[in-house]
Amino acid sequence: MKTLLAGYRRFRKDIWPSDKAHFAELAKGQKPHTLIIACSDSRVDPAAIFGVRAGELFVIRNVASIVPPYETHGGYHGVSAAIAFAVLNLEVERIVVLGHEHCGGVATAMAEGHSSTPFLSQWVSLLQPAIHMGGHDHDHLAVEYESIRLSLQRLMTFPFIVERVANAGLQLIGAHFKITDGTLSVLDPQSQEFQLVEEE
Ligand SMILES: [Zn+2]
Repeated sequence: MKTLLAGYRRFRKDIWPSDKAHFAELAKGQKPHTLIIACSDSRVDPAAIFGVRAGELFVIRNVASIVPPYETHGGYHGVSAAIAFAVLNLEVERIVVLGHEHCGGVATAMAEGHSSTPFLSQWVSLLQPAIHMGGHDHDHLAVEYESIRLSLQRLMTFPFIVERVANAGLQLIGAHFKITDGTLSVLDPQSQEFQLVEEE
């Protein structure tokens, strides 16, 4: 906790004075432009990768950046609730599904979900269709890519997303971050391939 509180004190000393006005605006309400669905992995920080300030991203993080299928029966649909709030209440302009290299959740799913960690096997079993598509040669990168495509397809099982894509210009974007070299690839909607983002 010492480390966290030291970080907080740096935030108060170095960041807060210049960001005070920005936060005063944010206190009136949030208007994030983008919903990010990212992995819980500590090495993949959406705000750092996209260089944004507080208030720009509405972020859902879970193991392996999974979008569950649209379901109407009862249950604690935490991911779906956050998606609905971002799309319908905050009216985000785009949804980015951000997967990444060396994803432990994808690896667990590829190991047929046999994990002794409570809840984990069942959660990552949602990736089975992606393993079926990309996992023939135990190619983790291929399954990470397929998992992102699968989450984008599952977003389109939510009726309110279909409606916003058709009528409000809501964009659905897939992206993959490489931890090894810090590069980002984005899914090309035409070719359905991931393409490295050009740098300055
Ligand atoms: Zn991951």
